[in-house]
Amino acid sequence: MSESQERPGGWDGFRTFVVKKKQPESHTVTSFYLVPEDAGLLPAYRPGQFLGFRLEVPGIDAPVVRTYTLSDAPGDGRHYRLSIKREPAPPGNTNAPPGLSSNYFHDHVRVGSKLQVRAPAGDFYLRDGDRPVALLSGGVGLTPMISMLNHLVADGDQRPVWFIHGVRNGAEHAFGRHVRQLADKHANVGVHVAYLEPRSEDKPGRDYDSSGFITLDLLRQLLPGPATSTCAARRRS
Ligand SMILES: Cc1cc2nc3c(=O)[nH]c(=O)nc-3n(C[C@H](O)[C@H](O)[C@H](O)COP(=O)(O)OP(=O)(O)OC[C@H]3O[C@@H](n4cnc5c(N)ncnc54)[C@H](O)[C@@H]3O)c2cc1C
Repeated sequence: MSESQERPGGWDGFRTFVVKKKQPESHTVTSFYLVPEDAGLLPAYRPGQFLGFRLEVPGIDAPVVRTYTLSDAPGDGRHYRLSIKREPAPPGNTNAPPGLSSNYFHDHVRVGSKLQVRAPAGDFYLRDGDRPVALLSGGVGLTPMISMLNHLVADGDQRPVWFIHGVRNGAEHAFGRHVRQLADKHANVGVHVAYLEPRSEDKPGRDYDSSGFITLDLLRQLLPGPATSTCAARRRS
């Protein structure tokens, strides 16, 4: 049994949730805010943990089972948020079907839709402590890092935090303004965004800080050295 299942509001198996809000975060990523249909309490989770879903996708005989990270700080115990990237067919293989679950979420799941959800779980989460934190992500792999960053800030944690993110360009960049606003307000939070292929409308200094991939050299320049040890790295394109 997972820790969340045992906490107040926790549950075993699937629980029905209702979509309360659907919020685009970029051209490709949309957030979904979920509340339990029974209006009961939700268990706290650790920033970085995920939910499991069992979806009935039209035209697919068997249930589609997928996991999505909780993309906000554990908050009021009343709702959860996920942020899902629409997965197209792989480039150069237009005969392949687009991603089943992510396209179902984007195209069919709307405010009022009901979803079957498992309790929060997962071992990839922010550890407590006082060591500096480096949050490194690519693409939609930023969702656990946003949860961790929001948690650190909400908690008034004064550890140095670096939020380092690589993404193709401004069209695919989710939570960009949110992260910069946090960095502006909190002196201990630093941000660096690398765009692989910036568009003409993407502004250096405002939208991104460097172009190209995140390299070891870049990390050496940004981070203070071996003292930075709580390093959470994840990449999903
Ligand atoms: C712990 C965890 C947390 C996650 N958190 C998030 C999150 O916060 N946000 C998020 O967006 N995602 C997250 N994911 C990824 C998510 O679970 C799904 O894997 C993702 O949405 C793709 O699922 P899908 O059903 O849309 O695509 P799938 O149907 O699984 O397809 C995946 C890819 O394969 C291609 N494909 C399908 N069939 C073929 C074929 N025959 N030939 C060639 N290519 C094919 C599809 O076009 C698609 O690009 C997470 C995954 C894990 C494990």
